[in-house]
Order: sequence, then C-alpha cells, then structure tokens
Amino acid sequence: MLSTTDYLRLLPKAELHCHFVSVMRVPTLIELAAKHDVALKTDDLDALLEYEGLPDFLDVFNAAHLALTTGDEIARVAYEGVEDAVRDGNLRYREYFINPDNFAPRGIDYPSLIDAITDGLTQAERDFGVGFRLVAAINRSLPAAAATAMVETVLAHPRDAVVGIGQDDLTPELTEDPLRFREAYELAGRHGLKRTAHAGETMNASPWNVIDAIETLGVDRVDHGYRVVDDPAALAKAQASGIPFTCTPHSTHMLSHWEFTPEHRIAQMVAAGLPVTLATDDAVFFKTDIGREYTHALPAMGLGDADAARIARAGFEAAWCNEDQKARLLAEVDAQILALSALR
Ligand SMILES: [Zn+2]
Repeated sequence: MLSTTDYLRLLPKAELHCHFVSVMRVPTLIELAAKHDVALKTDDLDALLEYEGLPDFLDVFNAAHLALTTGDEIARVAYEGVEDAVRDGNLRYREYFINPDNFAPRGIDYPSLIDAITDGLTQAERDFGVGFRLVAAINRSLPAAAATAMVETVLAHPRDAVVGIGQDDLTPELTEDPLRFREAYELAGRHGLKRTAHAGETMNASPWNVIDAIETLGVDRVDHGYRVVDDPAALAKAQASGIPFTCTPHSTHMLSHWEFTPEHRIAQMVAAGLPVTLATDDAVFFKTDIGREYTHALPAMGLGDADAARIARAGFEAAWCNEDQKARLLAEVDAQILALSALR
C-alpha cells in the first residue's frame, strides 16, 4: 500500500518552469558567493531565504547569477540540480529558463553559457536519464530593445537544446506588461522559436495580461496565469485556447501568501479544465522541490490521485522536446502511473 505522499512523490514529472540558478544548492551558493566576493544580504541561511515580496527575492536571485563565473561552476550547478530533483520527486524531464543578461556582468557570453549548462545537463542525462531543453529568458527589468537584442543573440548562435523564449524578473515599475516585449516575441515566432510568458502572477496583475500573452504575443504556454480565474470572460478565452499553464504552488505562498486550500487559484484552474502543469519556479530559493509541489500542495488544495496523475502527464504533453522523445516519455510515464496506481 503506497501512501499518498509516496504516490505523489514517485509520480514521474516533467518540470517546465524552472529558472536555472534556482536549482543551485544553498551550500553551493554560499561557497561560490564567498569565492567570488558576491555580497549576500545575510549569512544566516534561514534569513537569506525569507522575502518581503517579489522584489526582495529578486535581489537574492540576481546575486546567485553573479556567484557563477566559470563554465565548470555552471555545469556543476546544472548537474547537481538534476541529481536533487530525481531524488526529491522522480524528475524525468525539465526545461530551464536561462537569462543571458544576468550572466553578462561576469563576462560569460551567450554561447559559452549555453554550452556550459548543456555540458552539465548532458552528463546528468547520461547518469539519471533526465531529458532537458533550454528556454532563453527575457529580463523584464531591461528595456524592450534589450529583449529584442537577446532574441537576436539566440538566433545568431543556434543550439539544439535552446527551443524557445520566456521571461524572468519584473519591469522597473514592478509590473508584468507583456505587450512591452511584443517585438521580441514576433521576432522569435518568425524564426520558429517556441514562446512562453510570465503573466497573471502578481497581486497587481490583470486577468487580461494572460489573454494579451496568448492572443497578442502568441505564446505556446503561460507561466503562472493564476489571475485568469478572476474574470469569467478571460477564463473562457483561456479555456478556448487550450494553452497549458505552468503553475508553481509554493511561490504563490512565499510571494503572495496564498494558502493551499480548495479555493486556491490553481485548484480553480484545474476545476475549470485548464491544462495545468506543476513546477517549482525557483526551487531552492522558495525552499521547495518538485516533489513537495505535489506532496504538500495538491492534497491541501483538495486534488486527488487522478488529478495529480493528469497534472503530471500534462507536463510531458506540454514539453518542447521533439515528438519522438515526447512519445517515448509519455509511454514511460503512462506505464509508471499505472504501476503506482496499482499499489494504492
Ligand atoms: Zn518564473
């Protein structure tokens, strides 16, 4: 007899919303920050990972980028992050947001960055069988022209692992403002890159930020998207689009103080039939892991075995790997879900 916690932890998982530096082990962050003279707001581990809100968290997030200065360090973080997630939540596939602008102050150019991450993840794929793709992230704190320039850089240095664009950070006004980056999204789309956007996340975001991302930016996925349930007309449009959402339960608790109840917006999204997938967003910085996103959040939100299996499977369906790999992953996932269900 498998417990609910073990069933949820052992479900095979694809994580599609994971900012690369956030897979860094905290001891590794402390070690590398000290080595490279990066100031952290405190040496107290618990205090380091407590935030007043998203801007406060972003200070730590940005410091983590500065702590990574060599290809070997970047590859090590990539590898360790897979090792941890396999142990914590049976990770089978992951896509990472990579923000090239945040690595630039350390003199790490885009091709070197991508190749270092790919080295670490390829080694981890050999050792743990976890597939991966990379998604270049627009830094929303920079002007729109910087986003377009970032996409031009991605196009100038094609890499098999890099399949799309997304976002991190917030605008200088602490807003989402998806349409600010319209030119970058159009450029990416013209060249066959997949597209996703962070929308409908923050307290001052609008449900219509989600619809702007879907209808105007032409995204293939939405990251977060919670506010879409606040407006029936926006929700109807999201339902009609069939676009998947990457939802990150613990970050909603850490940054917006939402409790895990059946009224949580993620539960409402599931009830509305939206294709919901689960992810950590910033695992280490939100004191979570891909296993905890299922074991702690889903039962408290009133979601059961069948919901959890459907959510886990949706992560693979929404992945941006090639169709052969996706079919292979889905076949493995279906077999594992059947085997786990038989033990309940
Ligand atoms: Zn995110």
